[in-house]
Amino acid sequence: MNSDTSDPSAIDSQISTADQISYWQSISADVDGMLGGFPQVSRIDIQFSRNFIQKLRRLDNRSTRATSTSTSTSPIQNTAQAQSQSQSPTNTHTNTTYTFQHALEPGAGIGRVTLNLLAPLCAHIDIVEPIEKFTAVLTAPESPLVKNHQLSRVWNLPLQDWTPTLPPAYTANTTTSSPKYDLIFNQWCLNHLSFTSLVAYFKSLIPLLLPTGWIVVKENLSSDAFGADIFDADDSSVTRSDANWRAAFTEAGLRLVKTDLQTGFPKELKLYPVRIYALRPVE
Ligand code: SAH
Repeated sequence: MNSDTSDPSAIDSQISTADQISYWQSISADVDGMLGGFPQVSRIDIQFSRNFIQKLRRLDNRSTRATSTSTSTSPIQNTAQAQSQSQSPTNTHTNTTYTFQHALEPGAGIGRVTLNLLAPLCAHIDIVEPIEKFTAVLTAPESPLVKNHQLSRVWNLPLQDWTPTLPPAYTANTTTSSPKYDLIFNQWCLNHLSFTSLVAYFKSLIPLLLPTGWIVVKENLSSDAFGADIFDADDSSVTRSDANWRAAFTEAGLRLVKTDLQTGFPKELKLYPVRIYALRPVE
């Protein structure tokens, strides 16, 4: 049935990491630069992602601290829920309770997603981003992530050169803090990987993910009438078809649990369709 799946390897040979780096090095460290000249979609994008993560939490029937103390009526709880609730991470510096303990965000840029979406949800955040002038915004002493002690590790590397490692344990009591990620949020950067690198990258994430964790991918989709992937020589990226994204997930051993098509971007901007996918390893 995958008649619209094109062979990704044909155009992937044009991808050059050096070209990607030199392109992004020339881009301004602001939201306009991150969004290719469409900063006006940022708020809508973030709100949509926030709603999607809410839906994921409902899928797991996780409750926030507020609902679990005030409206929890169900006596039935599975072990994953019990575990996730008993482990609700608290930032000892701010006394905030977070949904996720350890998040990883590749291609974070200046932290548009990090600051607006992830920071209120994640106790500790690791970042892989090749361009140092972008992450300088996040690592500066006045960065809210630094002030709140949420920024954990930053690798200034392209994903192709990065070797994943387990997140560090933060509490003295390591029995209650699993040193694995519970959220890996990838947005508008996996288009820089060849199909082969993409599959290898996804496979490398599986041992780092908690059973209750999520890999989220939010990327543009090819609008080619025949479903072909589209190479962009400017930033040396590939806009893939939905079928090829799904093929990469399957090949890596990931199961698609939930997906939504982004809505709300102004039509007149004629942007590519954007899809968000939530994945877990195949059991
Ligand atoms: N995810 C952010 C930034 C999007 S811009 C957001 O949604 O706002 C694309 C980002 O991907 C840039 O920060 C760029 O430096 C980064 N990038 C480019 N090539 C990359 C690669 N090979 N590996 C990881 N990140 C890359």
